[in-house]
Amino acid sequence: MFSAFLIKYAEIGVKGKNRYVFENALVSRIKAVLAKCEGEFDVPKSDGRIFVYAKTAFDYDEVTDALKTVFGISGICPMEGCDLIPIDELGQKVCDYINENIPDRNVTFKIVTRRANKAYPLDSMETSANIGGAVLDRFPEMKVDVHEPELVIHVEIREKIFIYSEEIPGPGGMPLGTNGKAMLLLSGGIDSPVAGYMIAKRGVRIDAVYFHAPPYTSERAKQKVVDLAKEISKYTGPIDLHVINFTDIQLHIYEKCPHDELTIIMRRYMMMIAEELAKQNECLGLITGESLGQVASQTIHSLAVTNEVCTLPVFRPLIGMDKNEIVAISEKIGTYETSILPFEDCCTIFVAKHPVTKPNLNVIKRHEKNLEDRIKELFDRAIDTDEVIHID
Ligand code: ATP
Ligand code: MG
Repeated sequence: MFSAFLIKYAEIGVKGKNRYVFENALVSRIKAVLAKCEGEFDVPKSDGRIFVYAKTAFDYDEVTDALKTVFGISGICPMEGCDLIPIDELGQKVCDYINENIPDRNVTFKIVTRRANKAYPLDSMETSANIGGAVLDRFPEMKVDVHEPELVIHVEIREKIFIYSEEIPGPGGMPLGTNGKAMLLLSGGIDSPVAGYMIAKRGVRIDAVYFHAPPYTSERAKQKVVDLAKEISKYTGPIDLHVINFTDIQLHIYEKCPHDELTIIMRRYMMMIAEELAKQNECLGLITGESLGQVASQTIHSLAVTNEVCTLPVFRPLIGMDKNEIVAISEKIGTYETSILPFEDCCTIFVAKHPVTKPNLNVIKRHEKNLEDRIKELFDRAIDTDEVIHID
């Protein structure tokens, strides 16, 4: 019966004096995801390691699934615990563990003991040797190999003794909150939820903005974005989703600008509004799901023109990825099924048959002058009527 987990973290282990900041962020995120699971848990830090101790009954699958969403975790080791029993009993305990958890015993193995509790009478080497002997007696088909064992059984001697051999991969990355906050432009597509996931994985908290264009885009299209935000918030933690009514700005552009430039001009206004919201909400960067060359508005020329309106850094983690690589991540993180639901997007409704693929910045700026009579008012109103949906 597993009663505890050893949490392994790779990258944050090398942060020198700041290490405790990273460890504390990791512990607090672990506590936050466990608070939503059945049962009660302690999450102590102890000599460079983090443990999860179950204080009550819990659902193993629920807890391991929750831990797999915590950035900063490289591995999750389910541990079986027992009291500080004498060495001969401990040998039998490890044999029972093998009996229950290792169905194929035609393997080479090694025992690795870590004695954090120096009150235990045997040192690590002696403990390992004794347990190894007991295992060989009980399972003659098993063979010791200290150099390249197929099975490593770890014994942790602390205030209790813990036995583990399995390591479930975690998501990696850095703990949330160790790297500031950024504003994700979240549409209903496949790409932007993946982009948000990837930046959050580097420790960045996320807020999001969605541009909708009622009545051209429906409530269901908006609900789809809310659902996507919920999906990624399992990883990214709470998200404030800003829903911006973009209809009047879009109609104004549609009326006043050449139609082959609609998308690019619209994208520039999206970025300007997103940047304004970012600044109002302590975000230090913007995130988009753009990928070089994917569509007309994502050629290198178009991106240069879109980017020109921004002063904050714009993170485009998918920039060099092919669609199938993005799809693979979206399937892995669980957003794909929602993303492919067929609802209209404000970009596709006003889209021209032949959008420019090599927009010229000066030409675009000249045409944007046509908007001057009303754009400031529309821009301010879009931001003032921002609807914030808190997602946790
Ligand atoms: P996605 O799959 O993320 O929708 P896409 O391939 O459809 O991306 P575009 O429609 O060109 O590409 O959008 C590029 C990026 O601009 C998106 O990844 C997203 O970050 C942002 N974006 C596009 N439309 C919206 C919108 N309606 N609201 C918020 N952000 C948007
Ligand atoms: Mg889109």
